[in-house]
Amino acid sequence: MQSLVTQRCLTVQADETRTLGVRLGQWARAGDMVACRGALGAGKTTFVQGFAAGLGVGSDDYVRSPTFALVHAYHGRTPLYHFDFYRLSCCTEVQDIGFEEYLTDRGVVIVEWADKFPELLPPVRLEVYIRIVDADRRCVQWMAYDMSYSRYFLHAD
Ligand code: ADP
Ligand code: MG
Repeated sequence: MQSLVTQRCLTVQADETRTLGVRLGQWARAGDMVACRGALGAGKTTFVQGFAAGLGVGSDDYVRSPTFALVHAYHGRTPLYHFDFYRLSCCTEVQDIGFEEYLTDRGVVIVEWADKFPELLPPVRLEVYIRIVDADRRCVQWMAYDMSYSRYFLHAD
């Protein structure tokens, strides 16, 4: 499917990726689904840390990859559910965690390695793709397939 809106930003060092996450997280609201992809070490967790802060998650609530816990819940203006599909190998494992039950209007869902199981993602979502340019630079691109996510673009700069 062709995305309707897309925007990108070059970030230099993790701080800038985190700051971009903060900016975008400010526009998040309950019911949003954010699908992150990018290689290992691209900066997905760094982006999610910022996104959580933008959503009002306190800095004492440290955001790290839910590699073993599978999902971490944080409490900002709305609940934030952070998944990482990296270690999961099949759709049934994702379903067993109850992934689909988190996709409600009650909170925001953000997923690292979302592209591993595209068939499990709702078609209406925000996609964040982080590409490694070199050791310190990342190209962060965000895309939406539905105008309900246009607020992430209008206010980004
Ligand atoms: P992922 O979750 O995609 O595996 P992490 O966020 O855990 O990635 O790690 C990203 C790593 O890349 C960190 O060590 C961070 O310091 C480094 N880094 C260097 N430049 C950047 C940048 N521009 N944005 C994000 N991370 C960066
Ligand atoms: Mg990660």
